[in-house]
Amino acid sequence: MRDRSIGFRLAAWYFLVFACGLGAFSVGAWFAMRASLYHAIDDELRDRVGGVATFMNLQIASLSVPEIRDEFREHSVLGPGGDLFQVCDGRGQWLYRSVPLENENVPIELPDRLTQPRFENMQLQQHLLRFYSQRIVVDGKPYSVQVASLMNEGLEALERFKLMLLLAAPLLLIAASVGGYWLSTRALAPVDEISRAAQRIGIENLADRLEVPHTGDQLQRLSETLNATFARLEASVLRMKQFTADASHELRAPISLIRTTAEVAIQRDRTAPEYREALTEILEESERTSQVVDSLMLLARADSGKETLEYGPADACAVVRGAIEQGEKLARSHSIEFRGRIPSGSISIHADSDALRRAVLIVIDNAVKYTPSGGAVMVELADEGGFAVVSVTDTGIGIAKEDIAHVFDRFWRADKARSREQSGVGLGLSIAKWIAEAHQGSLAVESVAGRGSVFRLRVPLYVTAAVTTTHGPT
Ligand code: ADP
Repeated sequence: MRDRSIGFRLAAWYFLVFACGLGAFSVGAWFAMRASLYHAIDDELRDRVGGVATFMNLQIASLSVPEIRDEFREHSVLGPGGDLFQVCDGRGQWLYRSVPLENENVPIELPDRLTQPRFENMQLQQHLLRFYSQRIVVDGKPYSVQVASLMNEGLEALERFKLMLLLAAPLLLIAASVGGYWLSTRALAPVDEISRAAQRIGIENLADRLEVPHTGDQLQRLSETLNATFARLEASVLRMKQFTADASHELRAPISLIRTTAEVAIQRDRTAPEYREALTEILEESERTSQVVDSLMLLARADSGKETLEYGPADACAVVRGAIEQGEKLARSHSIEFRGRIPSGSISIHADSDALRRAVLIVIDNAVKYTPSGGAVMVELADEGGFAVVSVTDTGIGIAKEDIAHVFDRFWRADKARSREQSGVGLGLSIAKWIAEAHQGSLAVESVAGRGSVFRLRVPLYVTAAVTTTHGPT
């Protein structure tokens, strides 16, 4: 069933639901008809007992038993149920017994035993009869009256009704299934149209979009969702293209520098210091290139979900302290004032300490790189609203308002020429942001061009049951 078309499945469900409904309706209708048939017969039987009682009330005082019998015989054949009834007194003496009942010797309860009126069905020869027995009291004496009615006609009508239902139901089912299939294919035709249109969109025309029907229904939502997916795909493909172009550019530049340096160096015989200078230049460029390659590999692994961090209980104070020590040396070599402020004690986090230290160092390194000599960099750690927050504030060149949105983009640099001098390729903040987010945290920036920047890295605190109790509301 699962590998069938949706049109077929809809029609099959329609068939199933309709068949159940029709079955329930047919059974219900048959039972209702049967109940109304019995109701009509039972009413008639009760009326006839009433008729017998009235007749006896009028005649019993003036007539003898044989006379009553004659009267019954005379009147009963004119009644609606013919003469199918019998009456006996308290001792079992028959006041009247119609011939068919006498021939079949249909039993009757004595009035004393007939405390409740009773209906029953009985087969007499070829006929099904419904009997009604009731105790009546006439002139102070109890009698049992039993009247009967032929059920044949009613049962035949019921049988005809059943036959009609049995014949009509399959026809109706076939008609409903064909109709259901037709309806479902009609209803799904626009979906086919959408899928054909979607198939026409490929990597080469990712900017194309589906036509959106303004019907306010699932089809409109489907087209809009597909269009949104195409837009996301287009954006990712563009990002990938840009990334590949940037990556090849960033790699081509140092490689051609290495090559040119080597070519120039071997053009003629050189002195040992000249060779040393060329080789040092080649070594520096190689190191930078391998750093770029490492960063690219890390981001590629992060994108494909293959880069896994090793989380464990960690102390944010220790992590930041390590980064501060390295940052301090860096700042000193650039003649920049450096201050670090870490709370005493510890701040528990669940983290990959090495990765987190790397993220903090990237931000500190940037603060130092983009702050002129004589400026200041300050690193602070605090425990704020369930997060360990590392703030790195500098009094450097700052970031222009329109650039702030791009600082975390891969290969983005405010000033490419200057940044290259500073040894950056624009991947540091992308990596730092990825590390923060992998820790369920964040990395954000506030900056004013010419005044300086503040980068804030947040990582959620590691809350254990014990800690919750200790630090709970007091
Ligand atoms: P890079 O290796 O070029 O520093 P990043 O991804 O670390 O790459 O930073 C991207 C760009 O963001 C930098 O080139 C620089 O223009 C800008 N930037 C980052 N940090 C700072 C800062 N503290 N002050 C001013 N600009 C910054």
